[in-house]
Amino acid sequence: MLALAGGVGGSKLASGLADIAGDGLAVIVNTADDFDHLGLRICPDLDTVTYALAGIANPQTGWGIVDETWSCLDRLAALGGDDWFRLGDKDLATHILRTHYLRQGETLTAVTERFRQRLRIAPAIFPMTDQPVRTLVRTAQGELGFQHYFVKLRCEVPVLGFLFQGIEAATIPAPLEAQLSPVLHDLIVICPSNPFVSVDPILSVPHLRERLLAMRRPVVAVSPIIGGAAVKGPAAKMIRELAMPVSPVSIARHYRGLIHGIVIDEVDAAHATEVEKLGIHVRTAETLMTGKERQRKLAETCIRFGEAIACTLQ
Ligand code: GDP
Ligand code: CA
Repeated sequence: MLALAGGVGGSKLASGLADIAGDGLAVIVNTADDFDHLGLRICPDLDTVTYALAGIANPQTGWGIVDETWSCLDRLAALGGDDWFRLGDKDLATHILRTHYLRQGETLTAVTERFRQRLRIAPAIFPMTDQPVRTLVRTAQGELGFQHYFVKLRCEVPVLGFLFQGIEAATIPAPLEAQLSPVLHDLIVICPSNPFVSVDPILSVPHLRERLLAMRRPVVAVSPIIGGAAVKGPAAKMIRELAMPVSPVSIARHYRGLIHGIVIDEVDAAHATEVEKLGIHVRTAETLMTGKERQRKLAETCIRFGEAIACTLQ
C-alpha cells in the first residue's frame, strides 16, 4: 500500500495504515516545505511522518517529539538569534545529523532511510524527490516562502495560488521509483493532508502522477475538510480564498482524474451525492483521528473501500 502524506494530517492516517500493513506500507512525503534555518536543513513533513511512525510524536501538537525541552532555543534567543521557528532540543538532533550527512553528499532519501532504520520503523518512508523544491505562496504582496507565510505571518495574507519552485528539475528518487509498481502495492491512499501545499507538490514531481495512474490500482483520498472546516491549519482558509466551497466536494473535485473514491466525514454525508456526480465513489466514516484507535479504524475503512473499488476496476 502506498500513501501520500504531508505532515500532521498525513502522519496520523499513515500511522493507522502502518498498524495494519507494517512493512507493506510505503509513505511518499512532501518535501516542498523544506528549508534551511540557522544553517540546518529542516524537513517538517518528513520529520512529522518519521516521528509519528516511530511512536515518538508529540500527541498534543501532532508535530515535534514527545516530552520535548527548549533549552537550546532559549539560549539562541538570549544570544539574539532567530527563534520564530520552534526548534526543540530533541528535534535539533535530527536536523544536525541530517545536515551533516547531506553535506557529506548523501541524498535525502538515504538520510531518511538511515533514520527509519535507527528508529525501527517498519514502513518505508520516501521524500518525494531529492532535489530542492520550495513552495511559494502567491499573494497580493508578491510570492512568499511557505514558512514565512505559515509560521511568521500565521497565514494571515490571502492566497492567490501556489508555485513549486524547482519542481521542473525534480526527479523521482530511484528507490521510490522502484516502489511505483502494482506488484508491490494494491492500493494508493491520499492522506487527509493539505491538498494545495502538501499533496500537490508530490503530484507535481514530473511523471509521478502518471506513474501512480499507470499502476491501475484503486486510489482513495480522505477529506481533510470536516463540517466546513479544516481540523488544523490553513486548508479551509485557502479553499475559501481560492473561491471554492469549503466542503469535501472541493477536495474531490481537486483530485478528480486521479482518485476513484473519497472518504468523507459522517457530518458531511449530505455532500455524498454531489461527489458521486463527479464519478467518484464515496464512503462516509468518522474521519477525525483523535487517538490511535481512530487512526487504525479510518485506515481499515480506506483499505476496505479500496478493495470494493478494485472489484469495479477489473
Ligand atoms: P502539515 O504539513 O503539518 O500542515 O499537515 P498535512 O498537510 O498533512 O495536514 C493538514 C491537514 O490535515 C489539514 O487540512 C487538516 O484539516 C487535516 N487533518 C488533521 N487532522 C485530521 C484528522 O484527524 N482527520 C482529518 N480528516 N483531517 C485531518
Ligand atoms: Ca507541511
